[in-house]
Amino acid sequence: MRLLALLFLISFSFAQLKVVVTYPWIGYLVREIGGNSVKVHVIAKSWEDPHFVVPKPSHLVHMRNANLLIVQGASLEVGFLPPLLQQSANPHIQPGRSGFLDLSMFVNLIERPTYVSRAMGDVHPEGNPHYQLDPDNIPTLAKVMAEKLCQLDEGNCTSYKRNLTNFLSMWERKSKEWNTVMANMKGTKVVSYHKLYDYFLRRYNMILVGTLEPLPGIPPNPRHLENLIETMKREGVKCILQDVYHDRKVAQWVSSKTGVPVIVLPHDGDDLVKLFDTITAEVQRCR
Ligand SMILES: [Zn+2]
Repeated sequence: MRLLALLFLISFSFAQLKVVVTYPWIGYLVREIGGNSVKVHVIAKSWEDPHFVVPKPSHLVHMRNANLLIVQGASLEVGFLPPLLQQSANPHIQPGRSGFLDLSMFVNLIERPTYVSRAMGDVHPEGNPHYQLDPDNIPTLAKVMAEKLCQLDEGNCTSYKRNLTNFLSMWERKSKEWNTVMANMKGTKVVSYHKLYDYFLRRYNMILVGTLEPLPGIPPNPRHLENLIETMKREGVKCILQDVYHDRKVAQWVSSKTGVPVIVLPHDGDDLVKLFDTITAEVQRCR
């Protein structure tokens, strides 16, 4: 009897679709839609700089055996994913194959540059890749994921579709809550370290007046900061949005020169509902 149970467990775990994703928020969506039929491995941690994730050999093991790789795309993973993909030697999850899904193909990227030189160090050559921070992008991506899981695992398609329906109605309810909480933030002016929260700010009609970085990925310099401080005073900026992975000293220094408070915000997490609950609550301090 015990042996039978063990055999059942083994065959059950073999039947699970093995999915590798680059970021925690993608892992959350896959688990929501995939339920017990998927086994998810997440490469980056939510407190890591998403542009510069440190690749580890342990990720390779998961990539070697994966049925599906889901990425954020728009060049966000360009610094760490290509060598991992190559070394995984897994033909199923290479770009262009059915086991590869690039979510950036399904959203409207903002801030697409007309001209970009990598020599300038701009880490957003295809436009802003941090699109998970617009709650309105999430339903589209959940649908894309359900479709992909159905394509790779027809047998469980009914359950993927059921999970999708439940997820979408939950998300709609939460989105209404966030809209209500954020209604009073319309027109509030902020600055951020990196162009990380632009999708979120756009969604709720907040105004990004500038960034501590002179260009995405380029460290702040004194001359740029002096100009920014002048602009902040002139525009009546209410807060400095600081991410969890950059050093906070620059933001604190700018804060000391302007009297504008620093607010630390997450940008990723293994529960997207909690992520938006936290951001919408924290950002209230900008009023
Ligand atoms: Zn970025």
